[in-house]
Amino acid sequence: MQTIAIVGGGFSGTVAAINLSRFCRRPLRIFIVNHGYPFGRGIAYNARHSEHLLNVVARNMSALADCPDDLVEWLAAHPKFSDVPNTKLRETFLSRSVYGDYLMDLFQKWCCTPSQSFASVECIDGEVVDLTLSGDAPVLRLADGRHLRADRILLATGNPQPASLCSDGKPFRHPRYAENPWLNWEFCLPQDKGTPIVLLGTGLTMVDAFLTLKKLDWQGPLTAVSRNGLLPLSHFKGVEYSDFPPANPEKLTLTELVSEAECHCAILQARGENSAIVVDKLRSHTQRIWRNLTIDEKREFLQRYKGKWNVLRHRIAREVHAQLSAAIDLGHLQIVRGAVVALQEKSAHSIAVVLEDPARRHTELYGGFVINCTGPREAFSASNSGLLRNILERGWIDADDLDLGIRVDTDLRVFNAQGEKSEFLFAMGTILKGTLWETTAVPELRVQAYQAAQGLLGADNLTSVPTELELIEYQI
Ligand SMILES: Cc1cc2nc3c(=O)[nH]c(=O)nc-3n(C[C@H](O)[C@H](O)[C@H](O)COP(=O)(O)OP(=O)(O)OC[C@H]3O[C@@H](n4cnc5c(N)ncnc54)[C@H](O)[C@@H]3O)c2cc1C
Repeated sequence: MQTIAIVGGGFSGTVAAINLSRFCRRPLRIFIVNHGYPFGRGIAYNARHSEHLLNVVARNMSALADCPDDLVEWLAAHPKFSDVPNTKLRETFLSRSVYGDYLMDLFQKWCCTPSQSFASVECIDGEVVDLTLSGDAPVLRLADGRHLRADRILLATGNPQPASLCSDGKPFRHPRYAENPWLNWEFCLPQDKGTPIVLLGTGLTMVDAFLTLKKLDWQGPLTAVSRNGLLPLSHFKGVEYSDFPPANPEKLTLTELVSEAECHCAILQARGENSAIVVDKLRSHTQRIWRNLTIDEKREFLQRYKGKWNVLRHRIAREVHAQLSAAIDLGHLQIVRGAVVALQEKSAHSIAVVLEDPARRHTELYGGFVINCTGPREAFSASNSGLLRNILERGWIDADDLDLGIRVDTDLRVFNAQGEKSEFLFAMGTILKGTLWETTAVPELRVQAYQAAQGLLGADNLTSVPTELELIEYQI
């Protein structure tokens, strides 16, 4: 019997397993090994925070790349949503915990119901730390000493932890400092709800922390700091605009693309329309564009345009944006521009955040609690994953030229250090950022989970899925 091991049980690993179960036509054994975050839900869709909303509307969040309405149909059958008209359901920004429930139901249906599939799925709670060969067969080693033999392996390791902030060359540690914003920091908050809190970062992770503090009725002043001081923009109703992008945008150079985009932004602004739509319009072309840019163009994009791209691309639900704006207007939340250069312990109850402005002047902010909201660490070489470090050293994987992740081919097979396509190792998700750029959210991950399942099964064990099937794309 074929055995497939999946490393990582967040959205990516879970949906890949669901597709393996859906598409295998002979008995198949699947192991999903996960640690760190809840199985099935991963970092993003945990059940604890009903206040955290998806940043994509329901109609674009089906987990199945070949079933566009799967989520909306699940919602319509859910007692909580059965009275909501379909048109409204489709445009809803659901709670991320509800989305997690949807993933768990889908997993239950396809991976825990023997009559549905030839596959048997086993979830293993453990950390994979290495990959070796026994004869020809790949073997995963877990931190607790267990070994797992598999014919093929999918790396679905997900979001890297945020980078540590250092003090005197060592990672800063303090009881009032939450280094990982995705763990239960709210249980470490001071008793006094009037305590000032500093949030390091002004992006989506900061928004999550803000919403949680708001739900806790935090009264103390909140200060969010970042280099650019820019908040995520609000989603808005799609704009009818068919003049952009031009045909085959992947054939343009970066300079041509930027010039086209700027020209259309100016036209939209002159019409009083929201020019951020330009980034949405590129969404289904982004991976192809990225693959066709030269390495120098990619570097230039990262240096000159990444910040702006991120602000336009990662938008939030209108109601969340309204809450942020209200808090700023009331003076409860302050946004400060500056680079965080150091964290210093002032006392057992206070931390100084040292900021540098563009003129290189230093100022200090004081927090009775500080939360690291800087988002996933970008430098792949600085990864704190033992597994990724080990398999990089063994040459099973190869870092991409931008040090954002690893190199894979279009079929998600990993390239090894010799530049050869692996016989048994596949990868998906954020780890492909250097290869694909747009590879962190559900609309792209569901396509990868579908493709990975097909590649992992191989022609021998794949049901006859229609080959010309058009996989659904992000709809504006
Ligand atoms: C806070 C947040 C909110 C988001 N909101 C949205 C949204 O609204 N819409 C959207 O489309 N996208 C959203 N995203 C993007 C999100 O990254 C994807 O939607 C998706 O959840 C990623 O799933 P994943 O499985 O790739 O990664 P993860 O959720 O990071 O899961 C990976 C899992 O693998 C485990 N793992 C890693 N290494 C090992 C190992 N060696 N051994 C065992 N287990 C391992 C990890 O600990 C983790 O449990 C959000 C991301 C974050 C961080």
